[in-house]
Amino acid sequence: MANILAIGIATLDIINVVESYPTEDSELRALSQQQLRGGNATNTLTVLSQLGHDCSWGGVLIDEPDSQIIKHDLANSGIDISSCKQLASGKMPTSYITLSKKTGSRSIIHHRDCPEFSFSDFKKIKLDDFGWVHFEGRNIAETQLMLQHLKQHYPNLPCSLEIEKPRADIEQLFEFPDVLLFSQHYAEYRGFSTASDFLTSLDHDKLIVCAWGKHGAWAISPDKNIIHSTPFPPAQLIDTLGAGDTFNAGLIHSLVANIEPQKALKNACQLAGHKCGQYGFANLTTHFEFQS
Ligand code: ADP
Repeated sequence: MANILAIGIATLDIINVVESYPTEDSELRALSQQQLRGGNATNTLTVLSQLGHDCSWGGVLIDEPDSQIIKHDLANSGIDISSCKQLASGKMPTSYITLSKKTGSRSIIHHRDCPEFSFSDFKKIKLDDFGWVHFEGRNIAETQLMLQHLKQHYPNLPCSLEIEKPRADIEQLFEFPDVLLFSQHYAEYRGFSTASDFLTSLDHDKLIVCAWGKHGAWAISPDKNIIHSTPFPPAQLIDTLGAGDTFNAGLIHSLVANIEPQKALKNACQLAGHKCGQYGFANLTTHFEFQS
């Protein structure tokens, strides 16, 4: 098991479960509502922590009522927050999520008015303590400084970068990490209709992965072989919120253990598929067998 650091965000997720997704200008009653901690990096850490890793989060925590849910959840998951920037005033990012019972799909409206974790915050972290560092592809200029710093001073410390959304200059980050984790949304934004076409268009000799929802995931190995894993759909599709974050955790967990990419991809799809069959992340890994 490893000490894993993730840099990114935590959010307050307000999740309304509805029978089916509403049409515009309609009114409907939610079947249930929950307020939970969300955010890509912290979701991934929650799953990695269940898999037995010692996890730390680097991000911004604001001392306001909504951060209590977030702090409580991170503490429950055993995630260390001592690397965070803690601010006395402001507002934590909030995601308003509509989860359709009919399809398991999640639609998200995100509100953010919160400072980003900066390079100077990152430089305070004792990186010698870690065996893997994972970044969210956001806050591009500062993340580039973090990645450059990491590769210059800790060349043997493996790191991964998640590229979920297109953002100006995000491609400037691609040369630094050992593993790139792309979303279907990003590949489509770049004009590709298949993951394999997207992956072969990239010119990097590293492991590059692209998850493709209910079709599973593809990757290209450093020696340019295309790898595919089928999806592992659950008996009933319940909740796809955080499937990508779970996939990333399954992949990092496998790569930390030096499992070869084909099996790592399969493990990640299996764990993510399993997650789609339940609400949230609780006890996700209890009966889960990883292939080594
Ligand atoms: P997100 O939208 O959360 O970023 P993706 O849709 O890319 O995540 O899915 C990540 C992984 O989760 C996929 O590679 C797949 O293995 C699994 N997954 C997602 N949706 C489904 C589904 N409907 N059935 C089975 N597996 C799924």
